[in-house]
Amino acid sequence: MIARSPPGRYPKIAAECHRDLAANPFPGVIEILFLGTGGARFVVARQIRASGGMWMRFGKTQIHVDPGPGALVRALSHVPPCNPRELEAIVLSHKHLDHSNDVNVMIEAMTSGGFNRRGAVLAPIDALEGEHVVLPYAQKFVERIEVLRESHGPYHIGDVELFTSIRHLHAVETYGMHFRYEGRTVSYLPCGKFFEGLIDDYRAHAPDVLIVNVLRFRDSMDVDHLTFDQARKVLQGVRPRVAVLQHFGTKMLEQDPPKLARGLEHELGIRVIAAHDGMLLDAGTELAALAG
Ligand SMILES: [Zn+2]
Ligand SMILES: [Zn+2]
Repeated sequence: MIARSPPGRYPKIAAECHRDLAANPFPGVIEILFLGTGGARFVVARQIRASGGMWMRFGKTQIHVDPGPGALVRALSHVPPCNPRELEAIVLSHKHLDHSNDVNVMIEAMTSGGFNRRGAVLAPIDALEGEHVVLPYAQKFVERIEVLRESHGPYHIGDVELFTSIRHLHAVETYGMHFRYEGRTVSYLPCGKFFEGLIDDYRAHAPDVLIVNVLRFRDSMDVDHLTFDQARKVLQGVRPRVAVLQHFGTKMLEQDPPKLARGLEHELGIRVIAAHDGMLLDAGTELAALAG
């Protein structure tokens, strides 16, 4: 017998969870739920910060980006829970495990264990073939597999158009994402080494919201991740209306990301937010408030 939720509790969650767009006074809703904001092997291995990626809602279109370790558990235990069966697509920026570990279990959840063939997976080719992370059996469960290519698009996901960025300098094939919905653009700059071309590429898409992975604070080593100073350079060049920092390594966490964000906000004159686990960014409202 299937255990039922206690009376009174379930209807409330259901009402919150199943947003009825027709009844929604804000049809242009853009929400980004940060299921995990940790990056780097040490932070992820010890789960100092969670690593579940981002659950995005653009109106009725729901997209899960970079489902790292714990993504499914984080999605289901959030209040109200995220429902994988309502997902339109799962998108991977690259195949490193902190971005892709839960992709197969998330595909199973999205497709009701493979019994309901639906949804899409979008990922670079090396996540799908060769030493792939999306297992062949799980690839058969989804309706559509799309290979992400450099500076390409639009890829259509429900009501959203997705454009990929220039290729990032990272150990595996890695692309940033520009999500376009109802005249607004949310861009995601994942891991990679800094180069000037990043600024030009992201600026060309004129993002309203730019989410940046900032793993390191300062580093003299030649690493393939952005440091805080390089993230500042990117924000200075791109000038989104709202910037969100996330995917922190230990050195960044030691520096107190909210404090760094406040400093940047003051310095650059744009809204800067340091994400934390479980943070819901109501981008539509945030942008409307800035415009007002
Ligand atoms: Zn990473
Ligand atoms: Zn990586």
